[in-house]
Amino acid sequence: MSTYRVAVFTGEKTIEFKELELKKPLGTQALVKIDSCALCTLEQRVYNGVMRYYPFAGGHEFAGTVCEIGDKVVHLKPGDHVTARILTNCGSCYYCRNGHENQCVISFQASLHEGINGPGGLSEYILIDESLLYKMANDINLSYAALTEPLACCVHSISQGNIELGDDVAVIGVGIMGAFHIKLAKLRGARVIAIELDPERLEIAKEMGADVLVDAGKCNSVEKVIELTEGRGANVVFCTVANPQSAAEAIAMAGKLGRVVLYSSFHPKLPIELDVNHVHYSEMIITGSVNPKIKDFYVASKLLSTGIVNPARLISEEVPFENIDYALQRAIDPETYRVIVKI
Ligand SMILES: [Zn+2]
Ligand SMILES: [Zn+2]
Repeated sequence: MSTYRVAVFTGEKTIEFKELELKKPLGTQALVKIDSCALCTLEQRVYNGVMRYYPFAGGHEFAGTVCEIGDKVVHLKPGDHVTARILTNCGSCYYCRNGHENQCVISFQASLHEGINGPGGLSEYILIDESLLYKMANDINLSYAALTEPLACCVHSISQGNIELGDDVAVIGVGIMGAFHIKLAKLRGARVIAIELDPERLEIAKEMGADVLVDAGKCNSVEKVIELTEGRGANVVFCTVANPQSAAEAIAMAGKLGRVVLYSSFHPKLPIELDVNHVHYSEMIITGSVNPKIKDFYVASKLLSTGIVNPARLISEEVPFENIDYALQRAIDPETYRVIVKI
């Protein structure tokens, strides 16, 4: 019997390697040898003890190579590079049946890795249904391919913003998600105003294509955006930081007929002060964005495979599987972008 290793979070800041039996793919399954797995906030929160779901087989942003396929697999063959939409949907609830699978009633429930709670991408192998796999270019760097899921989340958010050519788009926060928003808004033909406190992150914003950089530590960002838009306010604002005060600013800097997308969730979820007449008179739309749809995931896989989006600058460090503890310590450091575990 051959075996493989999977990393399991068994308690706060405790990770153990478990040895599991390597099984053959059946029917529509493929066996994927995982190459890279990025550490998202979900893994960081479980590691930190903020979310206590132990035991937890973490890792939902991964990419690898198909090594064996079941007899009913149609679109994949051994050797193909793939990533997976592993945080999936039920397919049968009200939202799934109405074309809003990202709002699925179970979408936040982690899947199972061979009976262990969690998506299980921090593993040498994974057995997974073809329908959840997305083929990537054969020459893609698999660390980049592992970023399909976070990019897909941003693709969904960008479509919520309905950007038109020439729009003034403000992006609050230049973490990895803000950086992807900047790139995608540029691809949609916007003039992008990046707002961020950290000057080093403003440099990243520039590299991702931002037209105007606003150092939020040095000025009032709401006033600055209004000034930059001849007094009108932005057409679209994306808030990518978890601070409710930034949500209030996002709404305040949007102009008439503006669209505000609250991309990030908020911690703590404190109430904000809202100028209700600003909303009334401007006819603005305030919305959120949560989870990618199937199409968003496909679009993200294509943007990365073709090199239209290059995430090289958003990878802070690549760490071997053996040093997974160190990788998580690096990932929870707010200074880092994505840390990738190389399996
Ligand atoms: Zn993620
Ligand atoms: Zn559903």
